[in-house]
Amino acid sequence: MNEQTLAIHAGYEKDSMGTMAVPIYQTTAYEFRDTEHAANLFELKELGNIYTRLMNPTTDVFEKRFAALEHGVAAIGTASGMSAIFYAIANVAEAGDNIIVAKQVYGGTTTLTGHTIKRFGIETRYFDVNNPSEIEKLVNEKTKIILFESITNPSIDVSDFDAIVAIAKKYNIITCVDNTVATPIFCKPLNLGCDIVVHSASKYTTGQGLALGGVVVERENLVELIKDNPRYAHFNEPDASYHGLIYSDLPLPLFTLRIRLSLLRDLGAAPSPFNSWLYIQGLETLPLRMRQHAESALKVAQYLESHPKVKSVNYPGLKSNKNYTLAQKYFPKGQSGLLSFEVSDKQEAQAIADSTEIFKVVVNIGDSKSIITHPASTTHQQLSETELIDAGIPAGLIRLSIGLEDSEDLIADLEKALS
Ligand code: PLP
Repeated sequence: MNEQTLAIHAGYEKDSMGTMAVPIYQTTAYEFRDTEHAANLFELKELGNIYTRLMNPTTDVFEKRFAALEHGVAAIGTASGMSAIFYAIANVAEAGDNIIVAKQVYGGTTTLTGHTIKRFGIETRYFDVNNPSEIEKLVNEKTKIILFESITNPSIDVSDFDAIVAIAKKYNIITCVDNTVATPIFCKPLNLGCDIVVHSASKYTTGQGLALGGVVVERENLVELIKDNPRYAHFNEPDASYHGLIYSDLPLPLFTLRIRLSLLRDLGAAPSPFNSWLYIQGLETLPLRMRQHAESALKVAQYLESHPKVKSVNYPGLKSNKNYTLAQKYFPKGQSGLLSFEVSDKQEAQAIADSTEIFKVVVNIGDSKSIITHPASTTHQQLSETELIDAGIPAGLIRLSIGLEDSEDLIADLEKALS
């Protein structure tokens, strides 16, 4: 089935009432047939609903639909993008291990990897996404995952999948791609040889800034990489917290299953059924919306490029962009709705953001409403000067998330703010 059809139908078989729209199963718990049924579910002899922290029928449709769009085999919904990223890391790494992360990632991912998980004893080694050969020098036997963004936020770089995947395959390391900005409509990392995809569903998924959420998607046959791989011993050894279960022995997608049975069980950042329902509504129009976001973003980027006050524009759909060739290779159908541009300094950047009317000063992306952000004073404020430079965020950088308004109105708004 094609994308637009999957976006509308994947994962939902009508319930006994023939309900056309996916119902919201607003419940915490589920009644078992009897105690034997309950015991079977806990023992995984039968699969079924136990408790909404672990699974929910509305969330299940969202997970199946997202997995279908990413060409993955299974997915797990989470309460936010950050919890999805944390679970992907915590599913493989423990104290004494290290992970390899692109320097150019969302600010929350930088603080999570550079500070929070450091306190759990997990070391993060950073590489420049524009120079993926750096990864090889960082790998050792304790390396558990390589994490990067397909299109980076907010520096809008493009990752060279082939180069990164080649190194990961050489050392049998799991790759995890944050595909929030590109979305599965423009990029399917699992088709490019990656193993795990994470998303902030708070962005283009709902598409209207309606709900915080996240998702982790797993590729088919990941067990082949994990089975008997000493890097992932805990998937191959009995899990004492689950009656000695050995994940790599199960005929089920093991990465997302382990997040469900272990991390969601113990840490509990599960999506609410209502939010899952909102993600489902958003997914139905994702392919249509993404085409419009990308078309308008290109027009705005072309306008900004010709403006004398603008030092540089970063949009991978522009022919002048350093990542144009990579973007054509990996995202030929469109380069999403995120762009950034640089003006002389922080004061000028803030004055421009304060002068727009349609573009709202908000720290979000992927909304139908256009957004203007000054990353150095907001989303990336907690980064040191060196971290800011590493993340490609000069003080005069402005990020735009192009919404679904008429592109001529958006350009007129910027024209006024820049005058
Ligand atoms: N990944 C990217 C690329 C993001 O832009 C964001 C948020 O802006 C996140 C992850 C975190 O997602 P959430 O805000 O849903 O926790």
